[in-house]
Amino acid sequence: MQDKPVALVTGANQGIGLQIAREFVGHGFTVLVGSRNFERGVAAASEIGPDAIALQLDVTDQASITAAADRIGNEFGRLDVLVQNAAISNTKKRPDQSVEDYAKTARPSNVSLDEMRAVWDTNVFGVLAVYQAMLPLLRKAPQARIVNVSSGAGSLTRNSDPAFSHRPIFGPVYPASKTALNALTVAMAIELEAEGIKVNAVSPGFTKTNLNGYAGTETVEEGACEAVRVALDRDGPTGTFTHATLGTIPW
Ligand code: NAP
Repeated sequence: MQDKPVALVTGANQGIGLQIAREFVGHGFTVLVGSRNFERGVAAASEIGPDAIALQLDVTDQASITAAADRIGNEFGRLDVLVQNAAISNTKKRPDQSVEDYAKTARPSNVSLDEMRAVWDTNVFGVLAVYQAMLPLLRKAPQARIVNVSSGAGSLTRNSDPAFSHRPIFGPVYPASKTALNALTVAMAIELEAEGIKVNAVSPGFTKTNLNGYAGTETVEEGACEAVRVALDRDGPTGTFTHATLGTIPW
């Protein structure tokens, strides 16, 4: 078993995940760059450097998840850090459609159940499937940590406040998928607290990436920094939901 800690970042071929992977290498990790398209993962890993290794991982494909866990087990024997970053915001928004106009088509009364299922398949069930497959490897690491990349858009407390600016776009597809991810985070943290494996959720903030058509206001460095901080903190708490500058976000 190698001495260097091993991290897996899902959806690390672009955006915030790529930046998280890059920073882990800077902190002395071997990083598995999870990518549903292997070639894009290879390109991202070669951009980072020799301590980044491409790993084919589609979080909606159980065979892909199982093969990825088998490979990590065979090559590294353990996993120190798992960052569940892969997500999609929609499958049906037209490129010329604003987020607000798309949200009007994705309300509880009119949302396509197929759209909701597709997004939850990646953002919720994909996270749970990767958790289940990677847990035996995390248990082999001395102080394993899991970071789930959530969003303040999923906060029920914030969205219950009529003054919250994003409230009009709270709906069953992406925002509620992050609410469900938050619930999974708490359940995972409770399950693993006796074993000392920490599970926390972070919010990157509105970051300039493909997810929002590069409309975000934060850089990927700013978007990645809370996930990296929480993942590196061996002595921090478990079961938290935080943002780099806002601190604790209410669930
Ligand atoms: P992004 O640039 O679109 O990156 C998303 C990544 O997830 C891509 O690598 C994508 O792969 C991957 N992915 C999608 N479906 C996948 C699947 N089935 N299996 C494996 N990988 C899959 O978006 P981002 O902004 O960096 O998002 C990263 C995380 O931050 C997400 O969890 C997102 O919800 C969260 N977040 C982002 C913002 C923001 O403003 N950007 C705000 C709050 C939270 P492909 O390249 O193959 O599509």
